Amino acid sequence: MTINDVAHSAPATPSLIDGPALWPAQAHTPSVLGRQLVVERGEGCWLYTTDGRKLFDGTAGLWHANVGHGHPELAQAAYEQMLQLETYHIFARYSNDKALQLGEKLAAISPIERAKVILNSGGSDAIDVACKLARRHWQREGRTSKKVILSREFAYHGLHAYGTSIAGLEFNREGYGSESLVPETARISFNDPAQVEEVIQRIGAENIAALVTEAVQGTGGVNPPTPGYLETIARLCRENDILLILDEVITGFGRMGTMFAAEYYGLEPDMITFAKGVTSGYAPLGGVMVAPRLWEPFYVDAPDTPIFRHGATYAGHATACAVALKHLEILEREQLVPRVAELESVLRQALEDLAARVEAVTEVRSAGLLGGVTLDASLSAEQVCDDLVELGFIGRPLRGNTIQISPPFIITDAELHSLIDAIGQAVTGRSGK
Ligand code: PLP
Repeated sequence: MTINDVAHSAPATPSLIDGPALWPAQAHTPSVLGRQLVVERGEGCWLYTTDGRKLFDGTAGLWHANVGHGHPELAQAAYEQMLQLETYHIFARYSNDKALQLGEKLAAISPIERAKVILNSGGSDAIDVACKLARRHWQREGRTSKKVILSREFAYHGLHAYGTSIAGLEFNREGYGSESLVPETARISFNDPAQVEEVIQRIGAENIAALVTEAVQGTGGVNPPTPGYLETIARLCRENDILLILDEVITGFGRMGTMFAAEYYGLEPDMITFAKGVTSGYAPLGGVMVAPRLWEPFYVDAPDTPIFRHGATYAGHATACAVALKHLEILEREQLVPRVAELESVLRQALEDLAARVEAVTEVRSAGLLGGVTLDASLSAEQVCDDLVELGFIGRPLRGNTIQISPPFIITDAELHSLIDAIGQAVTGRSGK
């Protein structure tokens, strides 16, 4: 029996069946139905719920609302694009002007030199495409045994078939009848590069297509890399001809105080996956930035040039791309990325102060505008986050009894202090220490 099957034989409960038709995501239904916080409006860092609450969004939703909620220019960009053309697909000889413009813009700001850009609808999509392209690359090269995708323990890469299969949070892989949906995957240590080297030797570099990693693990508990870890695994990838896929779905577009975490950590990945921060969530959009080594063979002028069969109806959706273009303009105009660089030390200091003053806080971690507060075992991060809501703030419980902090970039210093103070208050309220 696994965590997913706890109530496998119980009949559905009438009071739950009669609830909303919408099946909530990632939910133990008896724990959430009847007490959902239903958000109906957002403005800046603030959210308003149908039961009259006003809440400060300390997580920017699911790490996405970087420019804050309710930005009128983004609404206007979507409206104008829809009037002109909702979208047109980008299959074969068709394209649309906004997808092409966004491709140019993303290639220009990508840490990958001469990148080509694949567009789709979100982070899980992007991961699926990146893993497929890694395998496609080695098949095309004739190195057909290179199929395994490595990922780190505690990793989160979305929940499509590939994301599920490479999940480092075990509960996301459980319950589907085999170790993973896509067979050729393996886990590596999240912080010990020596163990990574061992795994590569055991599996054999000739069998490994790619290594996927977040720069700072998000859902796994806000885990910045241990010093030297990313640099070492990048070197191991280079030396062993393993493609490096950097998952920047959370870190991309400014959350580290640099446009991408690749710049923050000095990495040169073969692919970068992105989503969330490309539009601040104003339209569903994600994609992959691809290095020349991978795309050039598909761009040869010859009848037998191979095809990479990626694509979906909404790949390069014109309205989503128009929103992304306006959004990137706002990030630049309002200098929000350098602002995050300033906020990094404010957050770090506030968290260190919190840990010094509140005994039940056992560890704090941060990088850029990402923070994690870990609580001792006498407390539940989930309960503390419920109490936080009563204080008017949203935090989110993550693996490892940790509270996620990832506010919009527009947060003021004073608001950031209020958020951390509220977490302290919620923790001491529960623990008395
Ligand atoms: N990769 C990372 C690092 C993420 O944090 C997420 C979502 O939180 C995903 C991929 C999946 O993105 P999406 O939820 O847009 O499919």
